[in-house]
Amino acid sequence: MDKYDVGIIGAGIAGSCLAILLAEEGKSVVVFEKEDYPSHKVCGEFISLESYAFFKSLGLPLDDWNLPIIKNLQLTSQKGGELNTSLKTGGFGLSRYKLDHALAEQMKKSGVHFHPKTKVTEVQNEMISTANGTYKTDLIIGSHGKYSPGYLKRPKTAAKRKYIGVKYHIKGDFKENLISLHSFDGGYCGISKIEDNQYCLCYLADASKLKYHNNNIRAFEKNVLFKNKKLKEVYSKAEFMWAKPLVISNIKFNKQQLYNEHMLFVGDAAGSISPLSGNGMSIAARSALVLSQLILEEENFAQLRTRYNKEWDLHFGGRVNKAELLNKLMLNPTAHHLVLKALNAFSPLRHKVVNDMQGDSFVRNFRVIR
Ligand SMILES: Cc1cc2nc3c(=O)[nH]c(=O)nc-3n(C[C@H](O)[C@H](O)[C@H](O)COP(=O)(O)OP(=O)(O)OC[C@H]3O[C@@H](n4cnc5c(N)ncnc54)[C@H](O)[C@@H]3O)c2cc1C
Repeated sequence: MDKYDVGIIGAGIAGSCLAILLAEEGKSVVVFEKEDYPSHKVCGEFISLESYAFFKSLGLPLDDWNLPIIKNLQLTSQKGGELNTSLKTGGFGLSRYKLDHALAEQMKKSGVHFHPKTKVTEVQNEMISTANGTYKTDLIIGSHGKYSPGYLKRPKTAAKRKYIGVKYHIKGDFKENLISLHSFDGGYCGISKIEDNQYCLCYLADASKLKYHNNNIRAFEKNVLFKNKKLKEVYSKAEFMWAKPLVISNIKFNKQQLYNEHMLFVGDAAGSISPLSGNGMSIAARSALVLSQLILEEENFAQLRTRYNKEWDLHFGGRVNKAELLNKLMLNPTAHHLVLKALNAFSPLRHKVVNDMQGDSFVRNFRVIR
C-alpha cells in the first residue's frame, strides 16, 4: 500500500496551494480530485489582488498572461439604485479553467502525487479510500469545497434557504476594469473581465424562485433577473460563449467544522464566504498558507487542531460573518436599495463597507501564523 506524509482530498484552490507548499518543504503529498483537468467551475472569477503575489510566488506566470486588473465597483438594485466607487485593493480576472489547471501543473512540478478523476469514498483513521485503491497517510486534509462529501457521513442539516450558482462566459463591449454587481429579488449577478477578451457572468439566486419557474433558467432570467434594467441591458449586449450555462445547487455560507477526529479542513470545506465579498479564492489560498505553516511546525495532532482553530478565527472569522450579513441585505430588493442610498450619502461608510472585506497582500514566505 502507498504511504504518504499528507493526503489531500480536493484540488481546488485550497488543496492545490497546500499541496505545493508542503511538497516543496519536503513532505510526501498525495492529492485526489474527483473531476478531470482542466474543467470549468461555477465561480465569479474575480480574484482579490491580495493573493496575486502569492500565486506568483507558487510559480504561476500571472504577469505573462496580461490579465485584467479591476479597480472599480458598480452596484445596482432593481429599484434603480446605483453606486459607483473605486476599490482600495481591487482584483484581477482569471478563469478557474486556467487557474486550477496551472495549479495542477505546478503540483506535478513540485513533486505532488496527483490523482485527477479519483473520488474519495471513505476516510478512516489514516486511510483514504478511492475506487482506484486505498492509501495510508499520516495526516488527512479535507479540501473538498462547499459541499458535504459522502466520505464524511455527516447527517445532512437542512439549510434555511438554498441557493443556486449559474455561470456563463460572454463577450461584448463592457468596461475592462470594472466589476459590476446587479441585485434582483433573491440574488445578485456579477460581471467582470477574465483572460482572452472574455467576461465572466455569474449569479447566485434563491433556488425556490428557479423552482417556481419549473427550473427553466431562461424563463427565470427573463422574469426575475431582467427586473433589474442594468442586468437586462448586459444580457442584450452579450455574446454568450456556451450553449448552456454551468449550474450548481445547494450553496450555503458559514464557518463549518475545522477538524474532526481524523482530519483537518481547509478552504470552503472549513468555512465559505459569500461570493459577494469577491475573496473566497484568496481566503482559500491564505488558509492553505496558514495551515501549511502550522503543519510544518506542529507534529502533535491535538495541538495542531487547537492552533489551527485559533488562527482561522483570527484571520477569517470576522470577514466570513460580515460577508454573511451583507449577503442577506443584498438579497432583499428593498434593503439593498436603502443600503445603496446610505452608501452613496456617506463616503466614510462606503469606503469601510466596500474595502473591509479584503485582506492584506501576502506571499508564501511571509510568516502568517502568530
Ligand atoms: C456563485 C459563486 C460565485 C463565486 N465568485 C467568486 C469570486 O468572484 N471570487 C472569489 O474569490 N470567490 C468566489 N466564489 C467563492 C470561491 O469559488 C470559493 O471560495 C473557492 O473556490 C474555494 O476554494 P476551495 O479550494 O476551498 O474549493 P473548490 O475550489 O470548490 O475545490 C474543491 C475541490 O474538491 C473536489 N472534491 C469534492 N469532493 C471530493 C471527493 N470526495 N474526492 C475528490 N475530490 C473532491 C471538487 O471537485 C473541487 O475541485 C464564488 C462562489 C460561488 C458559489
